[in-house]
Amino acid sequence: MKNTDIEIITSLKALLTNAKSKLVIIPHENPDGDAIGSALGLGQVLKDFGHEVKVISSNDYPDFLKWFSADVPVLIYDREKKEAKKWLKEAEAMICVDFNEAKRAGKLEKKILNFTNEKVLIDHHPYPKQFCDFMVSETSYSSTCELVFDVLIDTGFSSFLSQKAAEALYTGILTDTGGFSHNISKNTFKVVSELLNHNIETDKIQSAVFHNYSADRMKLLGFCLNEKMQVFPEYRAALISISKEELERFNFQPGDTEGFVNYPLSIKNIVFSALFIEKEGFVKASFRSKGNFPANAFSANHFNGGGHLNAAGGESELNFEETLLKFTQLLPEYEHQLLETTI
Ligand code: 5GP
Ligand code: MN
Repeated sequence: MKNTDIEIITSLKALLTNAKSKLVIIPHENPDGDAIGSALGLGQVLKDFGHEVKVISSNDYPDFLKWFSADVPVLIYDREKKEAKKWLKEAEAMICVDFNEAKRAGKLEKKILNFTNEKVLIDHHPYPKQFCDFMVSETSYSSTCELVFDVLIDTGFSSFLSQKAAEALYTGILTDTGGFSHNISKNTFKVVSELLNHNIETDKIQSAVFHNYSADRMKLLGFCLNEKMQVFPEYRAALISISKEELERFNFQPGDTEGFVNYPLSIKNIVFSALFIEKEGFVKASFRSKGNFPANAFSANHFNGGGHLNAAGGESELNFEETLLKFTQLLPEYEHQLLETTI
């Protein structure tokens, strides 16, 4: 861990090995595989050590992430407020995973900022805000799950790593690297190799994550690629947009559009892809890029968002049509940068 001082690890070790405590782990809003995987993987280890652990998520997460064997309870703040508030009040420490500023935890933002006991961050997003007492922020990691593994080793918890925890951590690495295709390093494979020592069933995980879609979701994907994708070869960019009515037509379920934004990057020479989804009162934006084109800066500058260099998200308060127009009108401004991007 390049960025994390030994004192932080020592303090974290003292905090987590102290007495058996009540702990809460918070993933980001709309949790993805890495957020849920790191929360459950870390939670399972801390539970097996003897702590009482609850994961509290701002909102629900997709069905394709609901098969984990980890037995750490997950409270959905949206619908279990009373119980979640009680836990937030009683918890002796809070660990935030896979996000870099409190507002990324959605409705839990204020609860995080107002939490007075010790707060820990374990995350791999760039430009973190200083909102926790112990910040383990390492941007060279493929995923928070890969980082959690190294934190567990360095804080002396490796003997509590079970098959259940390894399965959760493996899943986050698998999903955040798009099936080991991007952001991978030597350390990623080293960690995966260690996780495989815990007899996890990788074929089962692959099927649970990637071969578990509804027919409606596949039809929505086909519709998007066939009818909703606009390609701008002169800017090496592409865009997919989905209106509320279209989502309803395909019986949209949370998680159904996960991964759609990556497809245009499979087109030869395309280096920047955007996905806009019309939600209630705003438009959700996702951006993906190749090479050094900064999807995160683009999102921060124009769509009130951020993320990684090659994978970012944000939102627009303009209406759906205006948002799409804004995006297409921005492309000429980036023409030079897009054409110069080497892949
Ligand atoms: P996605 O497109 O899958 O929603 O998000 C891609 C990446 O951008 C993820 O790493 C996610 O954490 C980050 N991200 C998504 N939405 C936002 C946002 O509104 N603000 C910031 N700062 N990051 C975001
Ligand atoms: Mn992540």
